[in-house]
Amino acid sequence: MNSEAFRTLRPKGEGRFLLFCDHASRRIPAELENLGLPASELDRHIASDIGAAGVTTELSDILDAPAILCGTSRLVVDCNRQLAAGDLIPVVSDGTAVPGNRNLSEAARQSRIEQWFEPYHAAVEAVIADRQARGLTSIALSIHSMTACLAGNARPWQIALSSDDDRSLVEPMLEALRRPGDVTVGDNQPYRLDPAVDYSIPFHAMRRNMPYLQVEFRQDEIAGAAGQVRWARRFAGALAAIRIG
Ligand SMILES: [Zn+2]
Repeated sequence: MNSEAFRTLRPKGEGRFLLFCDHASRRIPAELENLGLPASELDRHIASDIGAAGVTTELSDILDAPAILCGTSRLVVDCNRQLAAGDLIPVVSDGTAVPGNRNLSEAARQSRIEQWFEPYHAAVEAVIADRQARGLTSIALSIHSMTACLAGNARPWQIALSSDDDRSLVEPMLEALRRPGDVTVGDNQPYRLDPAVDYSIPFHAMRRNMPYLQVEFRQDEIAGAAGQVRWARRFAGALAAIRIG
């Protein structure tokens, strides 16, 4: 088992949420030689969800919630993609060609899945099983961040929820987030949750009818520690305001 594939915070947390952060890390194993990319590219959102690990850590503390953080860059293998998805191991990401992912052999592809994807998701499953054994139900909370601007388009949403057909938590949460009236909240904008492409929420939550929320924080809001704390508190405040279960 690759011990770098994930980090688990508060594994015995007794809150009702279970957090995971698929794009927490920008780690690329040394043997992949930065996938042929310069450092400037690895600082960008194409390598990781900037600020998301910090918000996840804060939320884990506030909610007394277990949190599993993925240990590798989405450029090595995107742990929120179905294995059949074309961008599981992206050859191009937001306009940047990734030389180290070009013409990947089947063995190399499989090795990345076994070293990183599988242990991370097994860690999430282990926490769910442990909570079940302790009689705790869980609400999955998938934490991401989005760039302020993509392909020349500025994004007006400081925070956004991505969902599929089950809107039971999404509707009250949107209302709670919008209530102060000082931020623009995206509803399936810029991203809709797509069970055919996304992996984590469909596999860990939808498959077992576990309630879930998937959130995107805008990266300019959470780039620093102060913003991470501010947004984690705000999000936790909104969670506390909605009636669940
Ligand atoms: Zn993400």
